[in-house]
Amino acid sequence: MVTRVDSYKDHLKFGLMFEVPFVILMVIFNKWYFFMDYSSINTYYYLLYFTFILFISPMLMDIDHRAGKVREWTVTAGLLLIIIGLYNKNVMFFGLLFACTGQFIIYITKHRGIVHSWLFCICVSFGVYYIVSIELAVLCLIGNYTHLVADKIAFKIY
Ligand SMILES: [Zn+2]
Repeated sequence: MVTRVDSYKDHLKFGLMFEVPFVILMVIFNKWYFFMDYSSINTYYYLLYFTFILFISPMLMDIDHRAGKVREWTVTAGLLLIIIGLYNKNVMFFGLLFACTGQFIIYITKHRGIVHSWLFCICVSFGVYYIVSIELAVLCLIGNYTHLVADKIAFKIY
C-alpha cells in the first residue's frame, strides 16, 4: 500500500490503481467501446478525452501547487492551444481557460485549499459530463477522488 504520496508520479500510479479496474468493469459489463464507430471522427475525439482524463485527473488537484509540474504543464498547454486556436476559436477558448487557470489559481487559493476538495471533484466532473459523457465524468470523479485519498484528506468537502 502507498503510504506517502506527494509527487505527480505517485498520484498517477495511485489513481490508475482505481481507474483501471473501473475501465475494465465498464468494458465487461457496460460494453464500453465494443460498438464504437471507428469511421467517425467523434470516436477519436472520445478516445482522446478518455486518455486525457485517465492520466490527468489523478494529478489535476496539484494545479494549486506553486512550483508544481501540473501547474507548469497547464500553462504551457494553454499557451500552445492559444497558438493552435488561431485557426479555431473553440480551441483558443480552452487555451485561454487553461493558461489563465494555471497562472492565476495560486493567487486565489493556497496549496491544498479549495482545489483539494469534493467541491472541485464534482465541479470538474460536471464539466466533463457536460462536454463529453457520463461515463467519462465518473472516471474523472474517481481519478480526482483518489487524489484526496492519497493526500489523506478524503473527507474534505470544500
Ligand atoms: Zn495534492
